[in-house]
Amino acid sequence: MDTEIGSRTWHAHAKINLALHVTGRRPDGYHLIESLAVFTRFGDRVEIALADSDDFTVSGRYGPAVPLDTSNLVLKARDALRREAGLERTPPVAIRLEKNLPVASGVGGGSSDAAAVLRGLAETWALNMDGAELAWIGLSLGADVPMCLAAKPLVARGIGDELSMVPDFSALGLVLVNPGTAVSTADVFAALSRRDNEPLPPLPRSIDFHSLRNWLEITRNDLEPAALAMQPAIGRALSWLNKAGSGFSRMSGSGATCFGLFETGNVAKRAAADIRGRQPDWFVAATRTVTSEAD
Ligand code: ATP
Repeated sequence: MDTEIGSRTWHAHAKINLALHVTGRRPDGYHLIESLAVFTRFGDRVEIALADSDDFTVSGRYGPAVPLDTSNLVLKARDALRREAGLERTPPVAIRLEKNLPVASGVGGGSSDAAAVLRGLAETWALNMDGAELAWIGLSLGADVPMCLAAKPLVARGIGDELSMVPDFSALGLVLVNPGTAVSTADVFAALSRRDNEPLPPLPRSIDFHSLRNWLEITRNDLEPAALAMQPAIGRALSWLNKAGSGFSRMSGSGATCFGLFETGNVAKRAAADIRGRQPDWFVAATRTVTSEAD
């Protein structure tokens, strides 16, 4: 058995696209988007320790749904950082992934795991890399990795990699609901009927529950109609959120996870308990948005 020297845990927050407009497509096939995204306290956890040899283990409700080989974004992130920094500066590490987020569910779990590994290993290996260097490595792993490295309220443009932070953003309660159906992001994008939608409207100067709800009413998730046609269970998730008192409900990313907006974390907890009681097999989590380093 490996000797592990100390260990630290990094959070891999869920990424929630509060609004997502598809505004075009590049000649190389990548879609252009504009999205207001937030990150939640609820997410996966990545534990890292120096060890005698490299090791990777997975636990958690969705552990069995992710690969253990080098196709896992955790190992892709480790290997990309090692290639960049060189073997002599990157000694063996044991990485444990607690997979709490449903897979292929529109909350960027894999991208967020990769971001947590990049942050965690840069520190463990004392690489002294700045955010821009990590974001550049992250982008080679996936368009959403740079935003998961930022993990604060932001607007993403381009292919999702041009980020503008949204500073004045109150903490909000969210309930995440996934009806247990995986959705392929590629299939949803391929099924879009149009790709030249309007950009996001200007954001309110200061964002709280009320100003956000009003703004959300005039925005969309352009991926929702296509995903809903493929997976009608998404409609059931949205209607349970509405019945449980959500101030606003929508699908995140390419689905099937939907979010409900609640004024406080406690109201969100009660709503989640209500939905869980009626749909015990679904993924249901009450959480709050991450707004600062302290979160
Ligand atoms: P996005 O919102 O960015 O589209 P998603 O939530 O829809 O992301 P992920 O959960 O990130 O999708 O999974 C996408 C694919 O990546 C899955 O097919 C999965 O097998 C693969 N994958 C590799 N590593 C991981 C990981 N650590 N966690 C989740 N999925 C992973």
